[in-house]
Amino acid sequence: MKAPPWLLPAKPVRLLILFSLLLAVVGLDKVRRWWSPTHTLDTTHYHILSSAQSNQTAEIGAKMAALYSAYTELFSKLPTVSKPHAKLKLKLYRDQREFKRCNRVGWAEAYYRPPYCHAYFSAAEINPHHWMLHEGVHQLNHELAHLNLPTWADEGLSDYLGSSLLRDSRLEVGHTDRNSYPIWWLDELQLSGDLNRDLTNGTLIPLRAILTGRGGPSMNKHFNLYYLHWWSLTHMLFDGENGRYRDKVLPLLQEGATLQSFENHIGPVERVQAEWYQHLRQLQWDLFRIGSPASNHPGQGGANREPNKPAQKEPAPPRT
Ligand SMILES: [Zn+2]
Repeated sequence: MKAPPWLLPAKPVRLLILFSLLLAVVGLDKVRRWWSPTHTLDTTHYHILSSAQSNQTAEIGAKMAALYSAYTELFSKLPTVSKPHAKLKLKLYRDQREFKRCNRVGWAEAYYRPPYCHAYFSAAEINPHHWMLHEGVHQLNHELAHLNLPTWADEGLSDYLGSSLLRDSRLEVGHTDRNSYPIWWLDELQLSGDLNRDLTNGTLIPLRAILTGRGGPSMNKHFNLYYLHWWSLTHMLFDGENGRYRDKVLPLLQEGATLQSFENHIGPVERVQAEWYQHLRQLQWDLFRIGSPASNHPGQGGANREPNKPAQKEPAPPRT
């Protein structure tokens, strides 16, 4: 027969109390983070759980449809892309506050954890959908294209498509929207015009470090810088150098976008690094009129060219 709790020695009783307190804390945290959608929306390819306003959910549904069309068009040669699949799942939160309350995410403004993309409707931003679009590309890479990519390529594709301009229900792939992450940090990049100087003083991360994920500065401390590198490199592969690399992107991705496959399909790292640097300078000029146009680089045709128009910068992840 067990002894009643008040007869237990002091230590087990204390342990029991501590354990009960821990359970209570965990339980309270679960209650605090509980999220229940107010409605759902099914589109052709997506199932959306949402606590945003119904017109906002419909807007996200339409924009994700535009992303889906752009993605399947871009990767139409990939056999997996045209295969039937289950609906892709999204969780749309009412606002940033609700998103942060319900998810343990630190500085992140959205995330993809299979099977759901999690993002909020950012009504306070000029572009309220770019967070969801970015995560939606990760989801398409994983669930539709079944690509197994290193960070630079997975994030680069998500930035490239997620930061493209959405106009008249169409995603204009490669035409960059300044009101999206990480583009709104591009004007902070202090490029001197001298590649070697910028590599030496840490303004630029070496291409080799980007491709291998090794030898660069701390990703935790410089994540905005990394995102700018991933985005601009991907932008160059699709749209730079008069489109000479565009057809090589898919084979590169299918081979896992490793350093070796990069050199096989695109070219030697040192040569491409110099081209990429010029492309980055051109993007900075096209989008923010900063620096000077790099010679012999057409930039992103049709880009938003109004000078000195401030990019929207709130809300943004912390500055590196
Ligand atoms: Zn991402």
